[in-house]
Amino acid sequence: TIDRTQRAYSAAAQAFLARKPALFINNEWVSSSHDKTIPVEDPSSGKIVGHVVDASDKDVDRAVAAARAAFDDGRWSNLPPMVRERTMIRLADLIEANADELAELEAIDNGKPKTMAGAVDVPGAAAHIRFMAGWASKVSGEVTTPYTMPGGTVFGYTTKEPVGVCAQIVPWNFPLLMACLKIAPALAAGCTTVLKPAEQTSLTALRLADLIAEAGFPAGVVNIITGNGHTAGDRMVKHPDVDKVAFTGSTEIGKLINKNATDSLKRVTLELGGKSPVVIMPDVDVATAAPGAAGAIFFNSGQVCVAGSRLYAHRSIFDQVIEGVAATTPFWAPRASLDPEAHMGPLVSKEQFDRVMGYIEAGKRDGASVAVGGDAAAADGGYYVNPTVLVDVNPQMSVVREEIFGPVVVAQRFDDLDEVAKSANDTCFGLGAGIWTKDVATMHKLASKIKSGTVWGNCHAVIDTALPFGGFKESGLGREQGRQGIEAYMETKTVIIQL
Ligand code: NAD
Repeated sequence: TIDRTQRAYSAAAQAFLARKPALFINNEWVSSSHDKTIPVEDPSSGKIVGHVVDASDKDVDRAVAAARAAFDDGRWSNLPPMVRERTMIRLADLIEANADELAELEAIDNGKPKTMAGAVDVPGAAAHIRFMAGWASKVSGEVTTPYTMPGGTVFGYTTKEPVGVCAQIVPWNFPLLMACLKIAPALAAGCTTVLKPAEQTSLTALRLADLIAEAGFPAGVVNIITGNGHTAGDRMVKHPDVDKVAFTGSTEIGKLINKNATDSLKRVTLELGGKSPVVIMPDVDVATAAPGAAGAIFFNSGQVCVAGSRLYAHRSIFDQVIEGVAATTPFWAPRASLDPEAHMGPLVSKEQFDRVMGYIEAGKRDGASVAVGGDAAAADGGYYVNPTVLVDVNPQMSVVREEIFGPVVVAQRFDDLDEVAKSANDTCFGLGAGIWTKDVATMHKLASKIKSGTVWGNCHAVIDTALPFGGFKESGLGREQGRQGIEAYMETKTVIIQL
């Protein structure tokens, strides 16, 4: 049996957790207008280990006013792009210099293994900032030849201008990574921002605030406030001084935010939920594909928007694939996040634990069979769910249709390409899809048939900051990352001059 007792925190983490709850506005730590706080829980133990501010409406207004003033006087957007780029690169350097502490805070707050936070979240966060920093000096408009006017009578060109003040709201599954993914294009474009992490996981965003001040951003350019979604988040989205809303989170809240933000025609980008298919063709090497399919769902305890939560294996190899996935589950057995041997941690919260266990029970009631897992892991506190594979499922079951956001995969058989493409697309989501085959033609045919923002071939959830990311259908609106990522933070202005 695995000892799931959480390890002792480092002195640096203890000191950080002992800080007085505060908000980061205008490059300063300020108190809230009221004394409401949100407890910080370590999901590996279920213990409360600190508190953060639950921002009031007044706090939100203060943060937005700081971002508005910083945008309107051009203290950031009018800097030479080279200076903006250099400041951002300093921030990326500082994230890397503090990688160990950031990884530990993420592990304490979210429950993900510290080793994973150190290998994925922290370097990813720095990479997003570093990559977007380069665009600060590279985006530009163009000079366009007129179409209906004779040459020499009109001179037309376009410029790219920052959208303005941004409200950026992120979820709890990759807290630091999501925070950096959000602020990076905004800063490169010359925008100012108010960022709110999820109420379950605020620690690394607050630590990031220290680094933002240290990197030398002018006051008010990045403001970081903690608080609940239906209060502080809602206030940010509806605030008249906000020009753009960028949100990552559930489809349910995304739809609400879209409605609230677009009432005043704010610019909106949304990265929402998914139910991503993983298709395994009969020609694969099962010894490679099965662990790939397991990693697609068990990484980050399945709390990944692109988690490969619907597995489709060809009928001829279905049993082998299920055996192969099941064989990996000792590797993924959940452990406390600071255990150096952990590959998977607990779920983020009691709420999420209950939700995932509820889906497993619903699946069983609907007639699904448990091939492996299907239960909670023994522990003295904490929210551990064993990696789970459900078979004998059908497309009507809630475990097949809805996003579970836990280490639970539903596996189905298929016979041919058109059939599996149809099944893969039988969802309201369209975020990611994985295809495993050695056949190039099959790969390309299926990649073109599946309706999703990203398609992976012989891998899953590989994300690169240079490549656009986003969803088809109810998985989102717009794209982040790559050139499209910064374009989403800019307006195009057309200038036409009669000569
Ligand atoms: P959530 O939608 O409950 O919350 C996300 C954020 O929105 C939090 O910061 C929350 O405080 C805030 N919020 C909640 N209600 C709000 C409101 N009325 N107005 C403004 N803000 C509000 O999502 P979650 O449970 O934290 O995260 C899990 C979801 O995020 C999953 O559905 C997952 O697929 C999705 N996700 C998507 C991506 C992507 O890139 N597409 C990435 C990660 C997570």
